[in-house]
Amino acid sequence: MDAINPATGRRIESYEDATESDVRDALDRAETAYESWRHRPLRERETLLADAADVLRENEERYARLMTEEMGKPISQARSEVQKCAWVCDHYAEHASAYLGDDHHPSPPGTTVKTSYEPLGTVLAVMPWNFPFWQVFRFAAPYLTAGNVGVLKHASNVPGCAEAIEEVFREAGYPDGVFQSLLAPSDLIDDILRDDRVKAATLTGSGPAGRAVASTAGEELKKTVLELGGSDPFVVLDDADLDAAVEVGAQARNQNGGQSCIAAKRFIVHDDVYDDFLDRFVDEMESFVVGDPTDEETDMGPQAREELMEELHGQVTASVEAGATLVTGGEPLNREGAFYPPTVLTDIPEGCPADDEELFGPVAAVFRAEDEEAAIETANDTEFGLGASVWTEDRERGERVAHRIEAGCTYVNQLTKSDPRVPFGGIGDSGYGRELSEVGITEFVNKKTIWVE
Ligand code: NDP
Repeated sequence: MDAINPATGRRIESYEDATESDVRDALDRAETAYESWRHRPLRERETLLADAADVLRENEERYARLMTEEMGKPISQARSEVQKCAWVCDHYAEHASAYLGDDHHPSPPGTTVKTSYEPLGTVLAVMPWNFPFWQVFRFAAPYLTAGNVGVLKHASNVPGCAEAIEEVFREAGYPDGVFQSLLAPSDLIDDILRDDRVKAATLTGSGPAGRAVASTAGEELKKTVLELGGSDPFVVLDDADLDAAVEVGAQARNQNGGQSCIAAKRFIVHDDVYDDFLDRFVDEMESFVVGDPTDEETDMGPQAREELMEELHGQVTASVEAGATLVTGGEPLNREGAFYPPTVLTDIPEGCPADDEELFGPVAAVFRAEDEEAAIETANDTEFGLGASVWTEDRERGERVAHRIEAGCTYVNQLTKSDPRVPFGGIGDSGYGRELSEVGITEFVNKKTIWVE
């Protein structure tokens, strides 16, 4: 497994792939660890999680640099990601006991009936490279604290991050085997999932990877949570604050090099403000500083892998060939590394990639909607359903429109974002299940009814 710096195309380091026997040993260790971890008082598991937050904060710079090197995230955004991981640890360290406390139910006199939340065992996590720390902590903080143990199969282009995350838990004092990173190629995942010691799986990534994991897990009757891609609408209504919509819209499209499942991807703009919005939006997109991700001034680094950039460029080219208008960008930068500029497409024909595929990079597809009704229809004209953002100065109108958008979450006058306090996840091709908050921590537990007469 080679870690390649996408800003230079050079190899950073090589790592040994895990073998089948490494997998067996890891699952043995996980099972042994689970037997005592599950009985450890919840308060102690919370304290260890708070210690993990401290380890993250102490090593913020080193972990941030590792992400920047392996997948090209601008260093300032990488530091924020480490801080956000510490936040999710702090959140569950403070609230897990309340989230997992017994629920008492109405019951006949003399009986006690309650639901208690008990762990399941080993959870397999298949994670992507785009937020190489955050995606992992988003699963690990709640699920480990609920008493499960975790085995991480991280994306093959971020092996250094995978090892560093294991280090966080080790340094925090977690027992051996409670959290393990396996540098396993994805063709070993099927066998791992079928192993009796693995009880559930969570995957964040593409549709094909999600379907592969879900179908094996289905055959084995193992619970899954899937957080897949999106083609999130960013709806700008005629009464929107255009200054804010333009600024936040460009940020929502370009953050993390545009490689975010909840990035705004389809901009659906009311006819009355379309021309004004587009002019200003294009200027804003062009103002992003693209370059060396280790430079503090950089807004956007390279795309995470050369072939992912080529795939994105292929989608742009196919959309233009189908009749879309290229307003800005649209060609890889003529320099070393996988750099792609902020790009804007308009006049998008039905059925081209910019219309019905996920664009996982800094490419905005802008649609004109003749009125609110048409805007909602276009927003819902997708197989995905992850997040959405609606812009209007009228909060009631915003809420009404939000209810009509088919998505796991809709933000009014705000970009779609994940927050440890709030449930996160999608519908349709964006996956199922929820992460974060009280809802997330109870995805991988046995909600056991206990009736005492
Ligand atoms: P993948 O979905 O292929 O990778 C995500 C994770 O799934 C990685 O750990 C990968 O391992 C693993 N994986 C891949 N195929 C399988 C499989 N058949 N069974 C089990 N695990 C598997 O994403 P890519 O990196 O190839 O990116 C491709 C596209 O996926 C992007 O352009 C984007 O559209 C989408 N994506 C969405 C993300 C999101 O946040 N929802 C995040 C990343 C990508 P390995 O790296 O070893 O292949």
